Amino acid sequence: MKLEIDRDRLVRELDALGAISQELPPVVTRVVFTEADVRGREFVKQLCREAGLTIREDAVGNTFVRWIGENPGLEPVATGSHIDAIPNAGRFDGTVGVLGGLEAIRALAKAGHRPRRSIELVIFTSEEPTRFGIGCLGSRLMSGLLDPATASHYKDRDGVSLDDARSTAGFQGLLSSVRLPPAYYSAFVEMHIEQGPLLEQHKVPLGVVTAIAAPASLKIRIEGEGGHAGAVLMPDRHDAFLAAAEIALAVEQGARSSGSRDTVGTVGVCDIFPSAVNSIPSRARMEIDVRDTDDSRRDAVLRTIEQACAEITRRRGVQAHVEIVNADPPAHCAPHVVDTLVESCETHGLPFERMISRAYHDSLFMARIAPAAMLFIPCRDGVSHRPDEYASPESIAQGTLVLAEALARLASQ
Ligand SMILES: [Zn+2]
Repeated sequence: MKLEIDRDRLVRELDALGAISQELPPVVTRVVFTEADVRGREFVKQLCREAGLTIREDAVGNTFVRWIGENPGLEPVATGSHIDAIPNAGRFDGTVGVLGGLEAIRALAKAGHRPRRSIELVIFTSEEPTRFGIGCLGSRLMSGLLDPATASHYKDRDGVSLDDARSTAGFQGLLSSVRLPPAYYSAFVEMHIEQGPLLEQHKVPLGVVTAIAAPASLKIRIEGEGGHAGAVLMPDRHDAFLAAAEIALAVEQGARSSGSRDTVGTVGVCDIFPSAVNSIPSRARMEIDVRDTDDSRRDAVLRTIEQACAEITRRRGVQAHVEIVNADPPAHCAPHVVDTLVESCETHGLPFERMISRAYHDSLFMARIAPAAMLFIPCRDGVSHRPDEYASPESIAQGTLVLAEALARLASQ
């Protein structure tokens, strides 16, 4: 089989998808179920139709693009990623795994390959937590790790429910129907940019992921007392924002003192109310992300944050409500899928390194229902979630080549 990746076409398609944004290029903002997200989905689906593939969508908008194999009764092999993007993001996060997955299928077809198992490209809904506060919404529901009844009550910042948002975008039906039966896929592989600097620093073209770090996120609401910024004297204040500020420092301290550099903690959201220069903040709302490759160490940091929160709010005379949105276990990739990726790198003479994914991906949840692994390609300076995110055409093509090889091998098993 002579596999040829059409690098120029793939780069053109990535650029075109990147231009579908809620903001002007190079800024990519494509929040789930917005008009830009719907247009991005349509762009990808049109390319899939042109490639002669069949398309199915579920109630939450997860999209399944199938290349039917010689034995359609066998469990398919799947690949895929996401096309939604956080505000002010770049062109490659997620999209490389979606359009690269499509190109891998097209390259296999062009090489005359006929897979024994069907090969399915999955475009997951809302990998990013931007709108509903929870990441990997589509793959969580697919894997049965998120209760559909809980999910249907999610609301965005404007009070729009998940059910209303998905139906506006054209996705109806019961969320409970999204869950896939056990052993639905025989294997799952996701290609993604590394979103870290190691491959570039080590001058290694590909990363084979053996484990995915365990993420957790918290929401904290603080109720203090508002008042006039001139009239209320300092000893009499119960400033919600200052409590939030101390909690933010406790998050940093908790992560830094875990004893491992694998522990990271971030306060990514802090909204204050009423957000006026001459008004003492009466309310604050924080969203906190904590991750580690070891879930017990991660959970110890969560406890530290909760204790600090209790102490800080008591001392400052404010109230806090802490909600743990998710605390997921880490995923260990399936050895035979990892081995297949390794063999595929070797077949094409491409050096690789085994690594851990510190960002989490839909693979974290797919690993619960299918033997899964990931393939990383380098991105410039490890930068991601920024408009200057960049992966070279050569890296994208190399990753796609290895992905195609791995899909062919997995589909022949
Ligand atoms: Zn991603």
